Amino acid sequence: MEGLMMNRSLKIADILDFASSNFPKGEIVSVRTEGDIHRTTYRETAKRTAQLARGLNGLGMERGDRIATLAWNGYRHLELYYAISGIGSVCHTINPRLSAEQMLYIVHHAKDRLLFTDVTFVPLLQKLAPQFPKDMRIVAMTDRAHMPTAEGLELLCYEDLLDGQPDQFDWPDLAENTAAGLCYTSGTTGNPKGTLYTHRSTVLHALMAGITLPNVLREGRRILPVVPLFHVNAWGLPYAAPLTGASLIFPGPKLDGKSLFDLMDQEKVYSAWGVPTVWLGLLGQIRAEGRNPDGFGDVVVGGSAAPRSMIEAFEKTGVNVCHAWGMTEMSPIGTQGNLPVELSDLPLDKRVEAKSSQGRRVFGVELKITDDDGNRLPHDGKSPGNLFVRGNTITCGYFEDEGANNEAFDAEGWFKTGDVATIDENGFLLITDRAKDLIKSGGEWISSLDLENVVMSHPGVASCAVIAVPHEKWTERPLLVVQAAAGAEAPREELIEMLSRHFAKWQLPDDVVYVDSLPLTATGKVSKLTLRQQFAEHEMPEVSLG
Ligand code: AMP
Repeated sequence: MEGLMMNRSLKIADILDFASSNFPKGEIVSVRTEGDIHRTTYRETAKRTAQLARGLNGLGMERGDRIATLAWNGYRHLELYYAISGIGSVCHTINPRLSAEQMLYIVHHAKDRLLFTDVTFVPLLQKLAPQFPKDMRIVAMTDRAHMPTAEGLELLCYEDLLDGQPDQFDWPDLAENTAAGLCYTSGTTGNPKGTLYTHRSTVLHALMAGITLPNVLREGRRILPVVPLFHVNAWGLPYAAPLTGASLIFPGPKLDGKSLFDLMDQEKVYSAWGVPTVWLGLLGQIRAEGRNPDGFGDVVVGGSAAPRSMIEAFEKTGVNVCHAWGMTEMSPIGTQGNLPVELSDLPLDKRVEAKSSQGRRVFGVELKITDDDGNRLPHDGKSPGNLFVRGNTITCGYFEDEGANNEAFDAEGWFKTGDVATIDENGFLLITDRAKDLIKSGGEWISSLDLENVVMSHPGVASCAVIAVPHEKWTERPLLVVQAAAGAEAPREELIEMLSRHFAKWQLPDDVVYVDSLPLTATGKVSKLTLRQQFAEHEMPEVSLG
């Protein structure tokens, strides 16, 4: 028997409409590419979004059309999120750090009809333009006074699209499974793959985030998404913040430690979200200033494993660390690391230990770990297995990519994350490695993450990575690549000595090499693929593993 309740579709436009009426003064603060700081509110944003929607219709955009953005975190990018999905088109966020080749691939694969760009990317677009789809138009996200001259590019002006338009819009009644957003993720091999979010998955994800992090996502809180709007919807913040009344502080293009510290201090940011590499910079500035930014109380770290030393550094100063795990294909949040109440009074060292795991699943996401034959492994905190996920905010197939889809799901329809993890009896997930980053030595697996965690606690280390180097006898052996902290040293003997207190001899790196900086991926993670290529021929010294 069916129930008798209304069945209204979940729509993204309703989030901003709600914020406009319930949190009209909720703020959006943006560091603009023009160089100044811009302030607006949810009420104003709703009006400008309506004007933009009319502008998009005026350009002939229709339901299902893909509209690309190439932009930093700022209020115009947020307006695009809502206006594009609101009219039934698909907001395709492009990561500007992708290679030119990848960018061209995804623009063509997505069949983008329109591209909105921050003016900073105009020189890049001038180079790429000859290879863009012929009928794709480009809009510069600025006003008339700041329009760049761009030989060879015909640019429309963002503010012209809004000028003079009525600030109300009758949003179409879209079915909730209508596509709303598109984000490509670049694997280690092959072309980038597109995750196509729906209105339903996006609204559910925002609701899930809200109930998962009630201390952060609530009226009056000020949140800094350093995680870019071009990387998996800035982890859902553009939806979860207006839904709950939290304010958004957008950092624009400057993401170094000092710029972030100053902005957070000035804007009294409570919670800041981003990948570990960003927080290394902020922690350096916190040390230099001898204090935290005013009002800072919480940091959400995800995208790669948060090193234990980083969790400790924040927690020591009274900043709560929430270590979260997820994927582009998961909208992205899968687990969150805030501790259950019964563990909240743990002493620092135990708290840091507990927070080094990736935490517990959020409502709506199911987890399972299996052996290589697909048999489920116990949740005993000891048995590492291939991690699979299932839920309403998880992709059920890459966008127009049959080849990738054949490998991405198991027979029961669970999505294969490519991560290797343990889950304990209380549901705590511990990512032991990316399957492809594990090092296979003499038939045994060595976790690069475990080794890195220890190395990162050396005061002379700014960043590090452990990678597999092919080895004739053992198949692979670990190599430690270190970026020393400015003006500090991290001698090889000290690092190996530290590691040998925690690991068996055969698990220790055979060699340590020092680099000026570690290569990063387009999403700000250390690129182990690049390192593996760089050091593929590295000659390891003969070491006895006994
Ligand atoms: P992306 O889709 O680019 O966000 O990458 C997702 C992948 O990043 C995951 O499959 C993990 O390998 C890694 N990742 C994300 N968050 C974490 C975390 N907290 N700890 C360890 N790895 C993470």
